[in-house]
Amino acid sequence: MVRWLAGAAIALSMTTTAVADVVKFEKVTDNVYAFIGEINDRTKANLGLNANIGLVVTDAGAVIIDTGAGPLSAAAIEQAAQKITDQKIVAVFNTGSQDHRWLGNDYFAQRGATVYAMDTTVATQQAMLDSILNRIKGVDEIFHDQTPMHAPEPLTGPNASVTIGSTVFEVKYFNDAHFPGDVVIWLPQSEVLFSGDHVYVDRLLGVHPHTDAVKWVDAYDQMIQLPAKYIVPGHGAVSDKAKVQRETGDYLAQLVEAIMAVQEDFGAIDDVTPSRDWSQFQHLRHYDGWHGRNVSNTFMRLEMQ
Ligand SMILES: [Zn+2]
Repeated sequence: MVRWLAGAAIALSMTTTAVADVVKFEKVTDNVYAFIGEINDRTKANLGLNANIGLVVTDAGAVIIDTGAGPLSAAAIEQAAQKITDQKIVAVFNTGSQDHRWLGNDYFAQRGATVYAMDTTVATQQAMLDSILNRIKGVDEIFHDQTPMHAPEPLTGPNASVTIGSTVFEVKYFNDAHFPGDVVIWLPQSEVLFSGDHVYVDRLLGVHPHTDAVKWVDAYDQMIQLPAKYIVPGHGAVSDKAKVQRETGDYLAQLVEAIMAVQEDFGAIDDVTPSRDWSQFQHLRHYDGWHGRNVSNTFMRLEMQ
């Protein structure tokens, strides 16, 4: 009995330490912080947090942007936030519908936070729920205890504004991006843009079978007009506009343009990559694994149109 208790206590404390170490918020500018997640795959060790999370400290409480892949990652986010501020977490926002953007909603709601998401985002969270859950269940048993919770009163798109204390959060849907219904959160007062999965830096973005790259280009082109001083991307380090343009905007535009040109000439998927110079993107992590997939997923979708 004593031995079992000691074992359980050690296991528990190890879990607590491991969880507490996963998330660390770094300052972006006054009262705005970001956790920059790993740019590799979701694992048990990163609690599914291979994505970025935001923390904004207002004079009416703390606000989290994207809530993590479930209760464990939400707890890690909460603990990391408490190291920055002793303010209670009063609200959370979702920028998208992938697991790590919203499956921690229930955890924060149970502790009194209001959950904000736009109607376009909630529609995708609902439509893709089974595939979202199935995808992460394969990773590890720590992803099995999700309680999916959607914003009870979704914001009406395409532009919504929520003021918490004296801080304004503008939620903007431009067009479908990485997932249908993705939004960005724009903080006009501090000129910080939480771009969600509209932007990937340091690693190559991913075009999935459900991703419409043409719409993503359109969403990106509108988004990049915002006078952002700091962009917290969906994945990769906090960046300025120039880096975001080089690593997301230029790649997306070239991908779509190259495929359209090949299709106009009745060419095949294999003609796309040799038709352009991609060397400026080859340093991005996962280029070797993802570029080919991006070409074929985009090619096939454009062919259907
Ligand atoms: Zn993502």
